[in-house]
Amino acid sequence: AGHLYVVATPIGNLGDLAPRALAVLRSVDRICAEDTRTSGQLLAHFGVAKPLTALHEHNESGIVGGLVEQLRAGRSLALVSDAGTPLISDPGFVLVRAAREAGVPVIAIPGPCAAVTALSIAGIATDAFRFAGFLPSKSSARRERLRELGASPDTVIVYESSHRIADCLDDLVAVLGPARRVCLARELTKRFEQSITLPAAELSAWLLADANRVRGEFVLVIEGAPPADAGRAEHERLLRVL
Ligand code: SAM
Repeated sequence: AGHLYVVATPIGNLGDLAPRALAVLRSVDRICAEDTRTSGQLLAHFGVAKPLTALHEHNESGIVGGLVEQLRAGRSLALVSDAGTPLISDPGFVLVRAAREAGVPVIAIPGPCAAVTALSIAGIATDAFRFAGFLPSKSSARRERLRELGASPDTVIVYESSHRIADCLDDLVAVLGPARRVCLARELTKRFEQSITLPAAELSAWLLADANRVRGEFVLVIEGAPPADAGRAEHERLLRVL
């Protein structure tokens, strides 16, 4: 069988396309892309000309059978998304699962992922974290989800769009309190990249202080809940000492 390569592409800065990603894109028989126009531009920039197949959430289930047939017939495929790592809030899961079920080797060509990139610079605990993708767009549902996610001591990472970032921070303050630390990372690897970690209420004020700060693409890294029994443990320690 051929190989299915899951290839990460830049989240902004084209210099982040890995040399091995480029070599693989040059070597495969076909490239499956979330948006053939977006990926077509990236590939043209690097001088890669390959047959492209659109693979997005609306057609993925329908075309996966044919793609797996091609793989079984010995042809190799690369899967890319518009930005970053495929399958991470992006299409590709149905194809990867089907390829594995058919015994096709699935190989990752790792590279940028906005979630991990933000986490690595947030200054918020990294030992246990939960990636929650995009939050619901309606405030009531978003608050409910934030309440649930924020109750855990694990760090939470979410993606957010420019037209919801301000409302999202409002909800965060309302549900998790003004003191919960949050890192906002916007336009990572791009010209107007910014990242800042503050207590939620201060971060909300920071965002509104300059209209430019609401632009672009966002990742939020949210500190986990303080351990509920931390106070009690300290109390018990003091009692033992006494
Ligand atoms: N597969 C991608 C990845 O590996 O990060 C994520 C795709 S998801 C559809 C797009 C979202 O990722 C954006 O709405 C934004 O929340 C986040 N994102 C992507 N690029 C970013 C960047 N350069 N800076 C900050 N956030 C980014």
